[in-house]
Amino acid sequence: MERGSDLRGELKDLVAALKNHVSNEGDSFSPVSRLTVKGAPVRRREEEKQGDLLESKPKAAAGARKTPLNLKGVREDLGECTRCPLSRTRKNLVFGEGSATAKLVFVGEAPGEEEDNQGRPFVGRAGQLLTKIIHAMGLKREEVYICNILKCRPPGNRNPKEDEIATCEPFLVKQLEAINPDIICALGTFAAKTLLRTEAPISSIRGKFLDYHGRKLMPTYHPAYLLRNPDAKKLVWEDVQKIMKIL
Ligand code: URA
Repeated sequence: MERGSDLRGELKDLVAALKNHVSNEGDSFSPVSRLTVKGAPVRRREEEKQGDLLESKPKAAAGARKTPLNLKGVREDLGECTRCPLSRTRKNLVFGEGSATAKLVFVGEAPGEEEDNQGRPFVGRAGQLLTKIIHAMGLKREEVYICNILKCRPPGNRNPKEDEIATCEPFLVKQLEAINPDIICALGTFAAKTLLRTEAPISSIRGKFLDYHGRKLMPTYHPAYLLRNPDAKKLVWEDVQKIMKIL
């Protein structure tokens, strides 16, 4: 009798875990369409509109255990990705690096040439400047997490395309879920507009904490922009000081 109820209990747990797994998949791959920036025009992709339908599907049964994502699992899931044509021109996939439990995550646009060569994010000239900013914040690169919207270099550093973002972004969403940071710092127009679904220029939204799925997101200028416009460094310094106050 007792054995029978144990088995029933185990079966219930198994069903709940399975539902939870299916729900996690749905969460990670359904487009992020709940985000708004006050006063900013919201841009939505066609897939996102369809995503609303996905979002209305039932979630896991109440009380089901949520399987926590971990970064290693996300990396394994991504594998030697060939989901988009960038896989044919990249040398190395650039997943991201840093602390798996970082309180602060920097998100850039996409790997450049040096990043593609080394398979590491922000290691070129812009990356060296980012490293200096991180040190000026009293932190080490290993204490934060650094990644990009795209994991593969667009040829000639051209702008990422919509379909490349749509394919790659779910893995960034999973990375952020796994790391669970307090603050995300979006570096540059591209990261900010992708994460926040806005067309607002970086100059109008930088320096203010915005909401990204209940997390604080600070948009600021990209280090590559700072290399071309050193006067903007003081604005980035103001922005990162706001982050430091919270950390
Ligand atoms: N620019 C980015 O946006 N990301 C990198 O990793 C390097 C340069």
